[in-house]
Amino acid sequence: MESKDSSNVPYRFTHGEFDITVVSDGFIALPSDIIMPEASAQDKRAILARLGGGRTTAPMYTNIPVIRTGKEIVIVDTGSGSQFQDTAGALEENLKRADIDPASVTKVILTHAHPDHMGGILRDDGSLLFANAEHLVNVDEWSFWQDDALLAEGLRPFAAGARSNFAAIGERLTMVAPGTATINGIEIVSTPGHTGGHISLSLEGGDGLLITGDALTNPVVSFEHPDWRFGFDADHDTAVRTRRMLLDRFARSSTKLLGYHWSYPGIGQVARFGEAYSLV
Ligand SMILES: [Zn+2]
Repeated sequence: MESKDSSNVPYRFTHGEFDITVVSDGFIALPSDIIMPEASAQDKRAILARLGGGRTTAPMYTNIPVIRTGKEIVIVDTGSGSQFQDTAGALEENLKRADIDPASVTKVILTHAHPDHMGGILRDDGSLLFANAEHLVNVDEWSFWQDDALLAEGLRPFAAGARSNFAAIGERLTMVAPGTATINGIEIVSTPGHTGGHISLSLEGGDGLLITGDALTNPVVSFEHPDWRFGFDADHDTAVRTRRMLLDRFARSSTKLLGYHWSYPGIGQVARFGEAYSLV
């Protein structure tokens, strides 16, 4: 079993005006029936091995960028806290290791409200981990989780968690809309499908940097088999459309992408590879 401390030396880099540190929340393990339910048994075995997994599951990383720009310290997603798997939830200790005080964070941006991205907003004692931060949530994501009629049967357990986490943010929650730049040089981009209001973040500078959240969930499957269903995508057709739009656009550019669940620190570029793509 991997240790929670995947990143004893936090990965730090500059992009344009931004000083970015990627902090890990630990690992989550997902079964092949969630990662690639449509794959053949042979493909499942081969891909699990490439992902560093075992016979039925593979570990997925959790790459959380902390972005310093001007007076702002922005964190994108908050990890699992104690709301998902106990191999994750290491964000607070890894922030400490990176000399980042949660109380200094000015903005939390949530790509979506799944427990492995939002479960860490609260400590076990119920206090907000980023107590002084404004928490930015796409208004479409908030609405998505409020409406029972929109939720497939399997998503109901996630909905209860999302609603109680939204409620816990209280007055520190700010609704935002895609296409807006709430922080200088960081634009919110609509990338729905994984959830109803999933967003990515586009950072100015150089050839650009896109923080993809779970729009491209898996470093192998999302690129090489973009049409395959991912078990936690809320709307398969929309998720595929979003994946193909991102892959097609960024295969023709030198824009860097940062993926939440890719190998730490989760930074790469898209290359076209025949009818599919790969992460390089
Ligand atoms: Zn995720």
